[in-house]
Parts: sequence; C-alpha cells; structure tokens
Amino acid sequence: MSNLKLLDCDMHVHGPNSGGVSKNMSIPLMAEQAQLKGLHVLATGDCLNKEWLVHLKNSLIESNGTFSFKDSEIQFILSTEISDLHNVHQLCYFPDFASVDLFREKLIQQKVKLDGKGFGRPWVRIGAEKLAETVIDECKGLIGPAHGFTPYFGVFAHFNSVQQCFGSMASEIKFMELGLSADSDIADLIESNHSLQYFSCSDAHSAWSDKLGREFMRIRMTEGSLNELKKVLDLKGERRIETNIGLDAREGKYHCTACSECFAKYSLDQALKLKMKCMQCGKSIKRGVRDLALQLHNPESKSKPEYRAEYVRSIPLAEIIKIAFKAENAHSKKVQTVWRNFVEEFKSEIAILLDVPIENLIQKNPEVGKKIQAFRNNWVLFMAGGGGNYGVPIICDSLKELEQKKKELKNKLDCHSELQAQKILTEF
Ligand SMILES: [Zn+2]
Ligand SMILES: [Zn+2]
Ligand SMILES: [Zn+2]
Repeated sequence: MSNLKLLDCDMHVHGPNSGGVSKNMSIPLMAEQAQLKGLHVLATGDCLNKEWLVHLKNSLIESNGTFSFKDSEIQFILSTEISDLHNVHQLCYFPDFASVDLFREKLIQQKVKLDGKGFGRPWVRIGAEKLAETVIDECKGLIGPAHGFTPYFGVFAHFNSVQQCFGSMASEIKFMELGLSADSDIADLIESNHSLQYFSCSDAHSAWSDKLGREFMRIRMTEGSLNELKKVLDLKGERRIETNIGLDAREGKYHCTACSECFAKYSLDQALKLKMKCMQCGKSIKRGVRDLALQLHNPESKSKPEYRAEYVRSIPLAEIIKIAFKAENAHSKKVQTVWRNFVEEFKSEIAILLDVPIENLIQKNPEVGKKIQAFRNNWVLFMAGGGGNYGVPIICDSLKELEQKKKELKNKLDCHSELQAQKILTEF
C-alpha cells in the first residue's frame, strides 16, 4: 500500500469557548503553528459549540472526508471532548458536519447546554455507554477516554477499567488517551488496557509551541480523516500508530502521590497510613498515576501487547531554549524569537528535535544546540511532579554533570524518596 505516509497528529485541543483557553485560538492560527511545529493532522476540538462550529464551517474546506484550511497542508478532524455523567472526560471524533449536527440535535433534545463561552467542552448527564451508542452507532464517530489517569476527570478516577466504564459498548472502544502524567509502560501495567491503542495528545489550551503538539502521535495512514483513523484503530493493512511522542511521565502534574497543597511526595503506603492527610501541612494527599496503575497491576500479566507503539520521550523546543538561556518563561520574547529563527531555518520543531544533524544546530546557536544534543543523548533528569505540580526537567551538558546532579538531587527526583527518611508520625 504505497500511499501510506507517516503523519504527525495531535488529536486533542480546545477552541476559545472552553474554560481557560486563549481567546485568539482560531483555525488560521492553529494551522500556522501546527505547520511550524511540523504536525500534519490536528483535531478541531469543541465542535459541538455553536460559535466554534460556525467558525469551523466557515474556515474548513471539505474534500472526500478530509478537512483543510485554505492552502495549508494541515488536515483537521472534527472533534470534541465531553464530560459525562460520572465526570469522565471522553474524546469524540466525527466523519463530517452532518454527524456533528445530528449529535448536537440529540444533545439539545436532552437539554444539554452546548453554546456560549465556557461550554466548549459540554457537561452531559449521560453515561458513557449511552454516549458511545449515540456517537458510534448513530453518528458514525469514535469515542474513548481522554487523559485516562487524571484525578477527578480520568476514567480510572471512577472505574477500574475502561471496559467497566462503557458497559455493553466496551468492545467498541478502541483507544484511550494517556494524558501527560502517564506513558505506555505505566498504562500497560493494567492488563485490561492491552486491548486499547494509546493516544498521545497535547490537550492544548493555546497555540503556543510548547502547548500545541507537546504530545503527539506518528501514525502510518494515507490521510488525516476519520475514516483512516478508524482503519488505524482496526490495524487495517499496514496502518498503525507508529510512535507515541510525549513528555516524560515524570513531568506530569499527577505522576507521583503527593500533597495537593505543599506538594510533599509520599509512597502510597505512607499516604494510606496517614489517611491521605499531609504530615507537613494537613491538606489532602492525591494518589499519583504511577501508584494507581501499580494498584491495578496483575504481576502475572504480559508486559504489553505486540502491536503497542514505541513511546518516545520529548521536551518542547521552547522549553529547551528556556532552559538554555535560563529564561523565566517559554513564552518570553527572547525564547520565542530564537524558537522562530530555528523553525524557520530548519523547517519544523519536530525535525529539529529528532532529525536535523546536531552540528548544524550547534553552528546556529551553540547554547541551544548543545542542549538539544543533551536531550537527544538523554542526559535529562526530572524532579517528578505530583499533587497538581508539574515535574521539572533538568538537562545536563555531559554525562559527568548528569551523575553529579543525580547525587545532589537524590531525594528530590523520584516519586516518594523525599520523605522516605522521615518516620511517619503514626508509627510512633
Ligand atoms: Zn479533559
Ligand atoms: Zn481537554
Ligand atoms: Zn502538604
């Protein structure tokens, strides 16, 4: 099948009417930024929201099931996120505007509020099973859990498996989004996930380059359409998710079990003994994604299914530049100017991170080039995140520095070593 290509896809973003989303989010801006990033396919996000849907209908040109903007090479797939009856966030994808309109009508009949500011991601009082019936059977779309492991809104915050969440529709569910705090290895600790393919997506709330495409998938398929995505999930022909490119799970803000106020980290055992109350500040301790997966792990199970895509850890280029210049913010003028100079010269961010010869990057800017080299050599440590606090990457300039930093930061890097040395008060 010679017309198969490798397409880099970000399948979870939001329009300006979702909470906390930048107001200037628009299809032209998303297309421009995705091009610089090196992405080929983007989800539209929020397609049930009237204002955003009108914008999508006015901006996108449909041709044989693909949607594109003017002469941009980016293809879009109509998508939305929905919060269901149990507050589980679900990602939905649709083949065309007619199916989006049909789904809208069905939700409006059930008195769901879809339009206006703050309703980009609707809340519905409908369970996952019924939602799946409507999306899959009636609207010919796809549905699966968003950021499966996050506290409050991930499927595993409420159910012990994706199958349990979807009831009689379980066999129709083909994917789950990992979310920033998990990677494929963590998700595969839970055997019931082995029948699902994993999505890595950005869940971007702005088009900044460290947000849009901060996680994405490299998919082998012919084009960015829903029809093709369905074939990928059914592993038709040679189609498959080739690579999940994502942040190191330790960068995620719910990776470790930690206090939600002062972010002190605990082992799950410690936390349970303390009845999930922080011994430093008394506020509640949030169970981390890693410990959640370990609790559901069956030691007898296979480590992963054969078709599982490789998981490649990445750091957004703007973040690397920020670290190289010790800048405060990845959106600062200096970082953004250097970022733009790099992507304009070397075609795209993804090419710079993964493919462009390192000498060329060092020649362009030694400080940034050497940090990219260190990133490619994996001279990276993480102060793991937890309790709602993002993890912090530390990019070292040499193997020697890496070893040194490891010793220095010994108690701060991993999930539960910080308080390990201290005795828990209840043990006295
Ligand atoms: Zn969500
Ligand atoms: Zn989202
Ligand atoms: Zn605390």
